[in-house]
Amino acid sequence: MTTMSLDVFAELESNVRSYCRAWPAVWTRSRGARLWDEDGREYLDFFSGAGALNYGHNPPQLKQALISYLEEDGVLHALDMSTRAKREFLLRFEELILRPRGMSYRVQFTGPTGANAVEAALKLARKVTGRETVIPFSNAFHGMTLGALAVSANPNKRRSAGVPLNHAATVPYEGQIGDGDSLAVLESMLRPGGGLTRAAAVIVETVQGEGGLHAASASWLRGLEAICRAHDMLLIVDDVQAGCGRTGTFFSFEPAGIAPDIICLSKSISGIGQPMALALVKPDIDLWAPGEHNGTFRGNNAAFVTAAAALREWWSDDALEAEVARKAAIVEEALRGIIAGEERLHGSVRGRGLLIGLHTPVEGLAERIAAEAYERGLLVETSGPESEVVKLMPPLTIADEDLREGLRILAEAAAAA
Ligand code: PMP
Repeated sequence: MTTMSLDVFAELESNVRSYCRAWPAVWTRSRGARLWDEDGREYLDFFSGAGALNYGHNPPQLKQALISYLEEDGVLHALDMSTRAKREFLLRFEELILRPRGMSYRVQFTGPTGANAVEAALKLARKVTGRETVIPFSNAFHGMTLGALAVSANPNKRRSAGVPLNHAATVPYEGQIGDGDSLAVLESMLRPGGGLTRAAAVIVETVQGEGGLHAASASWLRGLEAICRAHDMLLIVDDVQAGCGRTGTFFSFEPAGIAPDIICLSKSISGIGQPMALALVKPDIDLWAPGEHNGTFRGNNAAFVTAAAALREWWSDDALEAEVARKAAIVEEALRGIIAGEERLHGSVRGRGLLIGLHTPVEGLAERIAAEAYERGLLVETSGPESEVVKLMPPLTIADEDLREGLRILAEAAAAA
Protein backbone atom coordinates (compact mmCIF):
# COMPACT_ATOMS: atom_id res chain seq x y z
CA MET A 1 0.00 0.00 0.00
CA THR A 2 1.42 3.34 -0.94
CA THR A 3 0.71 6.57 0.88
CA MET A 4 0.63 8.21 -2.54
CA SER A 5 -2.76 6.69 -3.20
CA LEU A 6 -6.16 8.04 -2.19
CA ASP A 7 -7.23 4.41 -1.76
CA VAL A 8 -5.50 4.38 1.63
CA PHE A 9 -8.08 6.80 2.99
CA ALA A 10 -10.99 4.94 1.43
CA GLU A 11 -9.75 1.65 2.89
CA LEU A 12 -8.51 2.70 6.29
CA GLU A 13 -10.43 5.80 7.29
CA SER A 14 -14.04 5.88 8.44
CA ASN A 15 -16.83 6.53 6.01
CA VAL A 16 -17.64 9.65 8.01
CA ARG A 17 -14.88 11.64 6.29
CA SER A 18 -16.31 14.46 4.19
CA TYR A 19 -14.17 17.40 3.06
CA CYS A 20 -11.71 15.01 1.42
CA ARG A 21 -14.51 13.79 -0.85
CA ALA A 22 -15.18 17.26 -2.29
CA TRP A 23 -11.46 17.98 -2.51
CA PRO A 24 -9.72 14.71 -3.43
CA ALA A 25 -6.14 15.95 -3.12
CA VAL A 26 -3.43 14.76 -0.74
CA TRP A 27 -2.15 17.94 0.87
CA THR A 28 1.50 18.33 1.71
CA ARG A 29 2.35 21.98 2.24
CA SER A 30 0.65 25.25 3.02
CA ARG A 31 1.64 28.86 3.42
CA GLY A 32 -0.49 31.99 3.66
CA ALA A 33 -3.48 31.66 1.33
CA ARG A 34 -1.97 28.73 -0.61
CA LEU A 35 -1.94 24.96 -0.32
CA TRP A 36 0.00 22.40 -2.37
CA ASP A 37 -0.92 18.80 -3.04
CA GLU A 38 1.28 15.75 -3.44
CA ASP A 39 1.49 16.29 -7.21
CA GLY A 40 2.77 19.82 -6.67
CA ARG A 41 -0.45 21.47 -7.78
CA GLU A 42 -1.10 24.82 -6.12
CA TYR A 43 -4.47 25.92 -4.72
CA LEU A 44 -5.79 29.19 -3.35
CA ASP A 45 -7.55 28.72 -0.04
CA PHE A 46 -10.79 30.67 0.54
CA PHE A 47 -11.86 28.09 3.13
CA SER A 48 -9.24 28.78 5.79
CA GLY A 49 -9.82 25.68 7.86
CA ALA A 50 -13.51 26.55 8.27
CA GLY A 51 -12.41 29.73 9.99
CA ALA A 52 -9.53 28.28 12.02
CA LEU A 53 -6.87 29.96 9.86
CA ASN A 54 -7.82 33.65 9.89
CA TYR A 55 -4.15 34.60 9.54
CA GLY A 56 -3.49 32.06 6.78
CA HIS A 57 -1.46 28.86 6.87
CA ASN A 58 1.75 28.76 8.91
CA PRO A 59 2.05 32.49 9.62
CA PRO A 60 5.86 32.88 9.96
CA GLN A 61 5.73 34.93 13.19
CA LEU A 62 3.59 32.33 14.94
CA LYS A 63 5.55 29.41 13.56
CA GLN A 64 8.77 30.98 14.87
CA ALA A 65 7.27 31.52 18.34
CA LEU A 66 6.24 27.85 18.42
CA ILE A 67 9.64 26.60 17.18
CA SER A 68 11.42 28.63 19.88
CA TYR A 69 9.08 27.27 22.55
CA LEU A 70 9.70 23.69 21.40
CA GLU A 71 13.46 24.22 21.31
CA GLU A 72 13.34 25.39 24.94
CA ASP A 73 11.44 22.20 25.87
CA GLY A 74 8.49 24.39 26.86
CA VAL A 75 5.67 22.49 28.56
CA LEU A 76 3.25 21.25 25.90
CA HIS A 77 0.54 19.56 27.94
CA ALA A 78 -0.52 20.74 31.36
CA LEU A 79 -4.26 20.18 31.94
CA ASP A 80 -5.21 23.39 33.75
CA MET A 81 -1.94 23.84 35.59
CA SER A 82 -0.40 27.30 35.56
CA THR A 83 2.30 27.71 32.93
CA ARG A 84 4.36 30.59 31.63
CA ALA A 85 2.72 30.19 28.21
CA LYS A 86 -0.78 30.38 29.68
CA ARG A 87 0.13 33.42 31.79
CA GLU A 88 1.48 35.20 28.71
CA PHE A 89 -1.71 34.44 26.79
CA LEU A 90 -3.97 35.62 29.65
CA LEU A 91 -1.99 38.85 30.05
CA ARG A 92 -2.03 39.65 26.32
CA PHE A 93 -5.73 38.78 26.01
CA GLU A 94 -6.54 41.10 28.91
CA GLU A 95 -4.23 43.86 27.67
CA LEU A 96 -4.99 43.78 23.93
CA ILE A 97 -8.54 42.45 23.67
CA LEU A 98 -10.60 42.86 26.84
CA ARG A 99 -9.33 46.07 28.45
CA PRO A 100 -9.32 48.29 25.32
CA ARG A 101 -12.94 47.25 24.75
CA GLY A 102 -13.97 47.92 28.34
CA MET A 103 -14.85 44.24 28.79
CA SER A 104 -14.57 42.34 32.05
CA TYR A 105 -14.61 38.56 31.67
CA ARG A 106 -13.03 35.52 33.28
CA VAL A 107 -11.38 33.12 30.83
CA GLN A 108 -12.47 29.49 31.07
CA PHE A 109 -10.21 27.14 29.12
CA THR A 110 -12.56 24.43 27.94
CA GLY A 111 -11.67 21.34 25.95
CA PRO A 112 -10.10 22.43 22.66
CA THR A 113 -13.06 22.44 20.25
CA GLY A 114 -15.81 24.92 19.56
CA ALA A 115 -18.37 22.39 20.74
CA ASN A 116 -16.48 22.06 24.03
CA ALA A 117 -16.80 25.83 24.61
CA VAL A 118 -20.51 25.69 23.77
CA GLU A 119 -21.10 22.77 26.15
CA ALA A 120 -19.38 24.67 28.95
CA ALA A 121 -21.49 27.77 28.23
CA LEU A 122 -24.75 25.80 28.22
CA LYS A 123 -23.90 23.99 31.46
CA LEU A 124 -22.90 27.18 33.22
CA ALA A 125 -26.04 29.02 32.06
CA ARG A 126 -28.18 26.18 33.43
CA LYS A 127 -26.27 26.11 36.71
CA VAL A 128 -26.42 29.88 37.20
CA THR A 129 -30.14 30.21 36.46
CA GLY A 130 -31.37 26.85 37.73
CA ARG A 131 -33.35 26.52 34.49
CA GLU A 132 -33.10 23.97 31.73
CA THR A 133 -34.33 25.43 28.46
CA VAL A 134 -31.99 27.27 26.13
CA ILE A 135 -33.25 29.28 23.17
CA PRO A 136 -31.35 28.88 19.89
CA PHE A 137 -32.31 30.18 16.45
CA SER A 138 -33.38 28.62 13.18
CA ASN A 139 -30.42 27.50 11.06
CA ALA A 140 -28.07 27.72 14.05
CA PHE A 141 -24.97 25.55 14.30
CA HIS A 142 -23.15 25.18 17.59
CA GLY A 143 -21.39 21.80 17.37
CA MET A 144 -21.85 18.04 17.26
CA THR A 145 -21.83 17.01 20.94
CA LEU A 146 -25.26 16.32 22.39
CA GLY A 147 -25.78 19.62 24.22
CA ALA A 148 -24.51 21.70 21.31
CA LEU A 149 -26.47 19.56 18.83
CA ALA A 150 -29.67 20.16 20.83
CA VAL A 151 -29.32 23.87 20.04
CA SER A 152 -28.33 23.28 16.39
CA ALA A 153 -30.87 23.18 13.58
CA ASN A 154 -29.52 20.95 10.82
CA PRO A 155 -31.88 17.93 10.64
CA ASN A 156 -29.29 15.46 9.34
CA LYS A 157 -26.83 16.37 12.04
CA ARG A 158 -29.56 16.18 14.68
CA ARG A 159 -30.62 12.73 13.49
CA SER A 160 -27.08 11.51 14.07
CA ALA A 161 -27.57 11.97 17.82
CA GLY A 162 -29.67 8.79 18.15
CA VAL A 163 -31.38 10.12 21.29
CA PRO A 164 -33.93 12.88 21.83
CA LEU A 165 -32.36 16.34 21.86
CA ASN A 166 -34.11 18.21 24.62
CA HIS A 167 -34.28 21.44 26.56
CA ALA A 168 -34.12 23.75 23.55
CA ALA A 169 -36.87 25.97 22.09
CA THR A 170 -35.93 27.28 18.67
CA VAL A 171 -37.01 30.76 17.54
CA PRO A 172 -36.69 32.20 14.00
CA TYR A 173 -33.48 34.15 13.36
CA GLU A 174 -33.71 37.68 12.01
CA GLY A 175 -35.11 37.68 8.49
CA GLN A 176 -36.13 34.01 8.51
CA ILE A 177 -39.91 34.53 8.68
CA GLY A 178 -40.33 36.72 5.63
CA ASP A 179 -40.99 40.28 6.78
CA GLY A 180 -42.05 39.02 10.21
CA ASP A 181 -40.37 40.23 13.38
CA SER A 182 -38.63 37.25 14.93
CA LEU A 183 -38.04 39.12 18.21
CA ALA A 184 -41.79 39.64 18.50
CA VAL A 185 -42.17 35.85 18.18
CA LEU A 186 -39.67 35.36 20.99
CA GLU A 187 -41.44 37.91 23.19
CA SER A 188 -44.82 36.31 22.60
CA MET A 189 -43.40 32.90 23.55
CA LEU A 190 -42.07 34.35 26.81
CA ARG A 191 -45.40 35.92 27.83
CA PRO A 192 -47.51 34.05 30.39
CA GLY A 193 -49.26 31.33 28.38
CA GLY A 194 -46.76 31.72 25.55
CA GLY A 195 -45.37 28.27 26.20
CA LEU A 196 -41.93 29.30 27.32
CA THR A 197 -41.81 31.16 30.58
CA ARG A 198 -38.47 30.31 32.07
CA ALA A 199 -35.40 29.84 29.91
CA ALA A 200 -31.81 29.79 31.10
CA ALA A 201 -30.28 31.51 28.10
CA VAL A 202 -30.39 32.51 24.48
CA ILE A 203 -27.52 31.32 22.27
CA VAL A 204 -26.84 33.19 19.05
CA GLU A 205 -24.35 33.54 16.20
CA THR A 206 -24.16 37.11 14.86
CA VAL A 207 -23.50 35.62 11.41
CA GLN A 208 -24.66 32.04 10.87
CA GLY A 209 -21.48 30.42 9.61
CA GLU A 210 -22.90 27.00 8.76
CA GLY A 211 -26.55 28.01 8.50
CA GLY A 212 -26.37 30.07 5.31
CA LEU A 213 -24.50 33.26 6.30
CA HIS A 214 -27.58 35.04 7.60
CA ALA A 215 -26.21 38.12 9.39
CA ALA A 216 -28.05 39.73 12.28
CA SER A 217 -28.35 43.51 12.31
CA ALA A 218 -26.94 45.53 15.20
CA SER A 219 -30.44 46.68 16.17
CA TRP A 220 -31.75 43.09 16.22
CA LEU A 221 -28.89 42.03 18.48
CA ARG A 222 -29.60 44.95 20.81
CA GLY A 223 -33.29 44.00 20.86
CA LEU A 224 -32.32 40.42 21.69
CA GLU A 225 -30.11 41.58 24.54
CA ALA A 226 -32.97 43.72 25.92
CA ILE A 227 -35.30 40.70 25.91
CA CYS A 228 -32.68 38.62 27.74
CA ARG A 229 -32.36 41.31 30.41
CA ALA A 230 -36.14 41.73 30.76
CA HIS A 231 -36.62 37.97 31.26
CA ASP A 232 -33.52 37.39 33.33
CA MET A 233 -32.01 35.03 30.72
CA LEU A 234 -28.30 34.87 29.96
CA LEU A 235 -27.10 35.91 26.52
CA ILE A 236 -24.52 33.55 25.00
CA VAL A 237 -22.79 34.66 21.81
CA ASP A 238 -21.18 31.81 19.91
CA ASP A 239 -18.26 33.62 18.26
CA VAL A 240 -16.47 30.38 17.36
CA GLN A 241 -16.61 31.12 13.63
CA ALA A 242 -17.48 34.84 13.40
CA GLY A 243 -14.98 35.92 16.07
CA CYS A 244 -11.21 36.61 16.02
CA GLY A 245 -11.60 39.35 13.41
CA ARG A 246 -13.54 37.41 10.78
CA THR A 247 -16.32 40.02 10.51
CA GLY A 248 -13.95 42.97 10.94
CA THR A 249 -13.79 43.47 14.72
CA PHE A 250 -12.21 41.02 17.18
CA PHE A 251 -15.64 40.06 18.53
CA SER A 252 -18.34 39.95 15.90
CA PHE A 253 -20.87 41.69 18.17
CA GLU A 254 -18.79 44.83 18.81
CA PRO A 255 -20.67 47.03 16.30
CA ALA A 256 -23.92 46.20 18.14
CA GLY A 257 -22.49 47.36 21.47
CA ILE A 258 -23.99 44.41 23.37
CA ALA A 259 -22.44 42.74 26.42
CA PRO A 260 -23.03 38.96 26.29
CA ASP A 261 -22.89 37.05 29.57
CA ILE A 262 -20.86 34.25 27.99
CA ILE A 263 -18.82 34.32 24.76
CA CYS A 264 -17.57 31.16 23.03
CA LEU A 265 -14.32 31.42 21.07
CA SER A 266 -12.30 28.77 19.28
CA LYS A 267 -11.18 28.14 15.66
CA SER A 268 -8.77 31.06 15.04
CA ILE A 269 -7.94 31.91 18.66
CA SER A 270 -4.64 29.97 18.49
CA GLY A 271 -3.88 31.70 15.19
CA ILE A 272 -2.21 28.70 13.57
CA GLY A 273 -4.85 25.98 13.60
CA GLN A 274 -3.85 24.50 16.96
CA PRO A 275 -6.90 23.26 18.90
CA MET A 276 -7.95 25.77 21.56
CA ALA A 277 -11.24 27.08 22.88
CA LEU A 278 -12.46 29.54 25.48
CA ALA A 279 -15.67 30.41 27.24
CA LEU A 280 -15.48 34.01 28.41
CA VAL A 281 -17.65 34.39 31.47
CA LYS A 282 -18.82 37.57 33.21
CA PRO A 283 -17.20 37.50 36.66
CA ASP A 284 -20.51 37.59 38.58
CA ILE A 285 -21.69 34.34 36.96
CA ASP A 286 -18.40 32.46 37.26
CA LEU A 287 -20.07 30.10 39.71
CA TRP A 288 -18.20 26.95 38.78
CA ALA A 289 -16.88 24.90 41.67
CA PRO A 290 -13.22 23.97 41.14
CA GLY A 291 -13.05 21.01 38.76
CA GLU A 292 -16.83 20.90 38.27
CA HIS A 293 -16.23 20.95 34.52
CA ASN A 294 -12.88 19.69 33.25
CA GLY A 295 -11.05 17.92 30.41
CA THR A 296 -7.59 16.55 29.64
CA PHE A 297 -6.80 18.90 26.78
CA ARG A 298 -7.60 22.31 28.30
CA GLY A 299 -3.91 23.13 28.51
CA ASN A 300 -2.60 23.04 24.94
CA ASN A 301 0.39 25.26 25.62
CA ALA A 302 1.56 25.20 22.00
CA ALA A 303 -1.75 26.93 21.22
CA PHE A 304 -1.26 29.43 24.05
CA VAL A 305 2.14 30.37 22.61
CA THR A 306 0.82 31.00 19.11
CA ALA A 307 -2.37 32.65 20.42
CA ALA A 308 -0.34 35.19 22.40
CA ALA A 309 1.88 35.77 19.37
CA ALA A 310 -1.19 36.32 17.18
CA LEU A 311 -2.57 38.90 19.60
CA ARG A 312 0.75 40.75 19.67
CA GLU A 313 1.08 40.57 15.89
CA TRP A 314 -2.42 41.57 14.77
CA TRP A 315 -4.31 43.08 17.69
CA SER A 316 -1.89 45.68 19.06
CA ASP A 317 -3.55 48.27 16.81
CA ASP A 318 -6.57 48.51 14.52
CA ALA A 319 -4.73 47.96 11.21
CA LEU A 320 -6.20 44.47 10.69
CA GLU A 321 -9.73 45.71 11.34
CA ALA A 322 -9.27 48.32 8.61
CA GLU A 323 -7.81 45.67 6.28
CA VAL A 324 -10.78 43.36 6.77
CA ALA A 325 -13.24 46.17 6.01
CA ARG A 326 -11.30 47.12 2.86
CA LYS A 327 -11.03 43.52 1.62
CA ALA A 328 -14.67 42.79 2.43
CA ALA A 329 -15.63 45.70 0.17
CA ILE A 330 -13.51 44.21 -2.63
CA VAL A 331 -15.18 40.81 -2.21
CA GLU A 332 -18.65 42.31 -2.05
CA GLU A 333 -18.08 44.33 -5.22
CA ALA A 334 -16.81 41.22 -7.03
CA LEU A 335 -19.82 39.20 -5.87
CA ARG A 336 -22.19 41.93 -7.05
CA GLY A 337 -20.40 41.86 -10.41
CA ILE A 338 -20.86 38.09 -10.70
CA ILE A 339 -24.54 38.40 -9.75
CA ALA A 340 -25.14 41.19 -12.28
CA GLY A 341 -23.31 39.26 -15.02
CA GLU A 342 -25.00 35.89 -14.40
CA GLU A 343 -28.73 36.50 -14.22
CA ARG A 344 -29.58 32.83 -14.02
CA LEU A 345 -27.92 32.68 -10.59
CA HIS A 346 -30.73 34.83 -9.11
CA GLY A 347 -27.94 35.62 -6.71
CA SER A 348 -27.62 37.80 -3.64
CA VAL A 349 -24.80 38.61 -1.23
CA ARG A 350 -24.96 37.17 2.28
CA GLY A 351 -22.85 37.66 5.40
CA ARG A 352 -20.67 40.35 6.91
CA GLY A 353 -16.97 41.22 6.77
CA LEU A 354 -14.90 38.34 5.38
CA LEU A 355 -17.59 35.84 6.34
CA ILE A 356 -19.40 36.52 3.12
CA GLY A 357 -20.94 34.56 0.29
CA LEU A 358 -23.05 34.23 -2.77
CA HIS A 359 -26.57 32.92 -2.24
CA THR A 360 -28.37 31.27 -5.13
CA PRO A 361 -31.81 29.67 -4.84
CA VAL A 362 -31.12 27.48 -7.90
CA GLU A 363 -30.95 23.91 -6.58
CA GLY A 364 -27.45 22.45 -6.53
CA LEU A 365 -25.88 25.48 -8.20
CA ALA A 366 -23.79 26.70 -5.26
CA GLU A 367 -22.29 23.21 -4.94
CA ARG A 368 -21.53 23.11 -8.67
CA ILE A 369 -19.81 26.51 -8.41
CA ALA A 370 -17.68 25.24 -5.51
CA ALA A 371 -16.78 22.12 -7.54
CA GLU A 372 -15.87 24.19 -10.61
CA ALA A 373 -13.76 26.45 -8.38
CA TYR A 374 -11.87 23.42 -7.07
CA GLU A 375 -11.17 22.27 -10.64
CA ARG A 376 -9.62 25.70 -11.20
CA GLY A 377 -7.52 25.57 -8.03
CA LEU A 378 -9.69 27.47 -5.53
CA LEU A 379 -11.05 26.01 -2.29
CA VAL A 380 -14.49 27.35 -1.32
CA GLU A 381 -17.17 25.52 0.61
CA THR A 382 -20.92 25.92 0.71
CA SER A 383 -23.14 26.88 3.63
CA GLY A 384 -26.83 26.64 4.46
CA PRO A 385 -29.36 23.86 4.99
CA GLU A 386 -29.49 23.21 1.25
CA SER A 387 -25.87 24.17 0.55
CA GLU A 388 -27.35 27.23 -1.15
CA VAL A 389 -24.53 29.66 -0.40
CA VAL A 390 -20.98 29.71 -1.80
CA LYS A 391 -19.07 30.76 1.28
CA LEU A 392 -15.90 32.82 1.03
CA MET A 393 -13.51 32.91 3.98
CA PRO A 394 -10.15 34.00 2.65
CA PRO A 395 -7.41 34.61 5.24
CA LEU A 396 -7.88 38.09 6.73
CA THR A 397 -4.22 38.71 5.94
CA ILE A 398 -4.45 37.67 2.27
CA ALA A 399 -2.52 39.77 -0.26
CA ASP A 400 -4.73 41.82 -2.58
CA GLU A 401 -3.44 40.02 -5.68
CA ASP A 402 -4.33 36.62 -4.19
CA LEU A 403 -7.75 37.91 -3.21
CA ARG A 404 -8.39 39.22 -6.71
CA GLU A 405 -7.10 36.01 -8.29
CA GLY A 406 -9.48 33.94 -6.17
CA LEU A 407 -12.38 36.20 -7.08
CA ARG A 408 -11.49 35.88 -10.76
CA ILE A 409 -11.52 32.07 -10.45
CA LEU A 410 -14.85 32.26 -8.65
CA ALA A 411 -16.34 34.32 -11.51
CA GLU A 412 -15.11 31.72 -14.02
CA ALA A 413 -16.54 28.93 -11.88
CA ALA A 414 -19.91 30.70 -11.68
CA ALA A 415 -19.96 31.12 -15.46
CA ALA A 416 -19.02 27.45 -15.99
CA ALA A 417 -21.50 26.05 -13.47
N1 PMP B 1 -20.07 27.05 16.82
C1 PMP B 1 -19.98 27.56 15.59
C2 PMP B 1 -20.62 28.89 15.29
C3 PMP B 1 -19.30 26.87 14.58
O1 PMP B 1 -19.22 27.37 13.34
C4 PMP B 1 -18.71 25.62 14.90
C5 PMP B 1 -17.93 24.82 13.87
N2 PMP B 1 -18.24 25.01 12.56
C6 PMP B 1 -18.83 25.14 16.20
C7 PMP B 1 -19.51 25.88 17.13
C8 PMP B 1 -18.24 23.82 16.61
O2 PMP B 1 -16.87 23.87 16.60
P1 PMP B 1 -16.01 22.50 16.58
O3 PMP B 1 -16.23 21.91 15.22
O4 PMP B 1 -14.61 22.94 16.81
O5 PMP B 1 -16.54 21.66 17.67
